[in-house]
Amino acid sequence: MSAQHDPNCVFCKIVAGQIPSRKVYEDEDLFVFHDIHPWAPVHFLMVPKVHIPSMAQVGPEHERLMGRLLTLAPKLALEQGCNPYPEGGFRIVCNTGQEGGQEVHHLHVHVIGGPRPWAKG
Ligand code: AMP
Ligand code: ZN
Repeated sequence: MSAQHDPNCVFCKIVAGQIPSRKVYEDEDLFVFHDIHPWAPVHFLMVPKVHIPSMAQVGPEHERLMGRLLTLAPKLALEQGCNPYPEGGFRIVCNTGQEGGQEVHHLHVHVIGGPRPWAKG
């Protein structure tokens, strides 16, 4: 693996296919898969394939990557069963650092939605 990946990182392992996941979407830069402990009828995670630990490490070199990630989110949300805006919608969450509630230190965006009630949130 190149320096762009962390051999001890669970999401790098998912991207590499070394840990199984339920894949939603993949392209050259992004990997998207269902959260293993969903809070809601729809709950998937969007990650860059390169290992960026969190939003705290994002810089100008990531503008295109992060722009693509965020602009893809609404399309995948609808495809995965979120209802249309405004009655439906979804929540985008990006926990950053310990005080931000981040548990897995590979940048990931949660996309959460679907009919309520939700288990959490
Ligand atoms: P956080 O770092 O707090 O934003 O959340 C990490 C998320 O990753 C949690 O919602 C976990 O359920 C999820 N998660 C951890 N391991 C896996 C895995 N192997 N496959 C899918 N989701 C996972
Ligand atoms: Zn990683």
